[in-house]
Amino acid sequence: MFDLVIRGALLLDGLGSAPARGDLAVTGDRIAVVGKVEGASKTTLDAGGLALMPGIVDNHTHYDAQITWDPGVAPSPELGVTTAVIGNCGFTIAPCRSRDRELVMRNLTQVEGMSLEVLRQGIRWDFETVPEYLDMLERQRAAVNVAVFAGHSALRTYVMGEAATRRVATGDEIQQMKALLLEALRAGAIGFSTSTSPAHNGEGGLPMPSRLADDDELRTLVSSLKEAGHGLFMLTKGGHTRMSFLEELAAESTRPVVVAALLHSSTNPEAVFHDLDAIAQANARGRRLVGAVSCCPLAMDFTLRSPYTFEGLESWQPALALRGAAYEAKLREKRFRDGVREELARPAHFRLFNAQWDKVHVIESGRRGAEQRSVGELAREAGADPLDYMLDLALEENLRTVFSALLLNSDEEAVGRMLRHPASLVSLSDAGAHLTFFNDAGFGLHLLGHWVRERGALTLADAARRLTSQPAGVFGIRERGALRPGFYADLLLFDPASVNRGPKQRVFDLPGGHPRLTTAAVGVHGVWVNGVRLDGSARPGRLLREFSA
Ligand SMILES: [Zn+2]
Repeated sequence: MFDLVIRGALLLDGLGSAPARGDLAVTGDRIAVVGKVEGASKTTLDAGGLALMPGIVDNHTHYDAQITWDPGVAPSPELGVTTAVIGNCGFTIAPCRSRDRELVMRNLTQVEGMSLEVLRQGIRWDFETVPEYLDMLERQRAAVNVAVFAGHSALRTYVMGEAATRRVATGDEIQQMKALLLEALRAGAIGFSTSTSPAHNGEGGLPMPSRLADDDELRTLVSSLKEAGHGLFMLTKGGHTRMSFLEELAAESTRPVVVAALLHSSTNPEAVFHDLDAIAQANARGRRLVGAVSCCPLAMDFTLRSPYTFEGLESWQPALALRGAAYEAKLREKRFRDGVREELARPAHFRLFNAQWDKVHVIESGRRGAEQRSVGELAREAGADPLDYMLDLALEENLRTVFSALLLNSDEEAVGRMLRHPASLVSLSDAGAHLTFFNDAGFGLHLLGHWVRERGALTLADAARRLTSQPAGVFGIRERGALRPGFYADLLLFDPASVNRGPKQRVFDLPGGHPRLTTAAVGVHGVWVNGVRLDGSARPGRLLREFSA
C-alpha cells in the first residue's frame, strides 16, 4: 500500500529527459515508483496533466537568522523550494560568542536588509558553535531541507573580535579559523563560504570581515576542504579577485568552487561571459568550477536612508558611517556629489549601479506627478543633473522617498545566453536577505514561467534539471533532485501554462512588525518535502549533514 499516488502527471525527472505522461508513488519519505503505478494508496491525486518535477534546490539563500524565529522560512516553500542552502557569502550567525552577538548582528543589518531591531528581537541564540547551531536546527525542524555553510565572516569575528573588520589575520589566527572550519565541516557543514565583494558592508560601512582576508588566509581555509574530504567553496567575487587564483584554489583543494555573483551589466556586457568562459576552460583542465548566475533582473527598492545601491561605490564611503544631520549634510555637499559623478563616469569591471538613470524610478513620493517616472526623465524635465535630482528630492522628504533601480540582468538576450552557458548554475535568489530591497525567492517559478514559457529560452525539461539535479550534483546533496525510485519525495506539482511568481508586495510580519518584500506563487498546485505535503504549518524538512561532493 502506497502512502501517496499522483496519477496522470507530465513527469519532468529533473535529469533533463523529455517530459512523459505518467504516475508517481510515494511510500514514507521516498519515491517508490515512477511511470506506471499499479496498486492501492492511502491518498490518490489526479494531476490532470499538470507537471510534476523534483522540488527546487535553492542553493543561494541567507535564512541563517530568519530560520531561528521562522522555521517556515517564508516565502520559499510555497514558491516550490524544498531544499535551501543557507550561509552563502560567509554571512552566518555561527559560530558566535554571546559577547559578539551585537557585532555579528551589526555586520548583518546592511547586507541582509533587516534592521538591527528585527535581528535583536528575532534571533534565538541557542548556540555558540557551528555544531551547536546545526543541532538546534535539527531539533526545531524546518518546512524545507536545509544545508548550512560555515561562513568566513563569522569565523573571523569569532577569532579576531572587532579586529575582524579592520586588518589581515596573523598566522595563529588563521590556524584557529581553520580548526573551527574543520570542526564545522565534520559536524555537517556543506562547505566554506566567503565574499570579497566591495558591495558587502556591515553597519556604518565597515567592510564584511571576509573582505580583509589575504590570499594566504583564503588558501589555508579552502585547503581545509581537502582535509575534511567533502564540501565546496563558495565565494561572491569582488572585481579584484582573479579567476586564475580561484582555479588554483580549486586545484589545490580538489573541491568544487561556486563563483558568484555573475550578473550581466549593460555597461560592460562581455564581462560575465569572460568569467563563464574562464570557468569552462578551467573545467576542461580538470577543475570543478561553476558560475552562479541569476535568472531575475536585479531591481532594488531603496530609500536614501539605506541606499545599498550606492554603498559599494568608493566615492560613497565618506557617507557610510554618518547618521542624521551629518549624513544629510554630506548628501548635500557638492564635492561629494561630484566625486560620485566622476566615479560613475569611469568604466568598471563590475559595479552594481552604472548611472542608468532611466532605470531608476520614483516609487513613493509626495511630489506631484513624480511617482512611477524615471529619475532620468524627471531630471531632464527639470533641467537638473539626475544625481542632484534624486538626492534633492530625497532630502526634501526626510529621506523617505522610495526609489526602485533596475541595476543588472536587464538585457534578456544576454541573460538567456548566460542561463544556457555550460558553466553556469541558476542561483542567487538571496532569499532571506536584502528583505526590504528585493525578493527573488520565486526565481524557480520565474525560470519556468518567464524563461521557458514566455521566452522559449530553455526547454521545460532543461529548466527543471537546472533547478534540481544540477545544483544537487554541484553541492553533493544526495538522493534528491530527481524523480527516481529510492530518492526522497521532494516534489513540485505545477501548471506549465500559468506558472510564475506574482508581483512583489510589501508585508509587515518581521519581528516587531517590520516590513519585507514578498511574492506569491502562481500556478503551483502542491509542494511535498520528504513525502509530506506542505500546508503552511508542516515541518517535514531535514537538516542535511552528509554530502557526496
Ligand atoms: Zn548572498
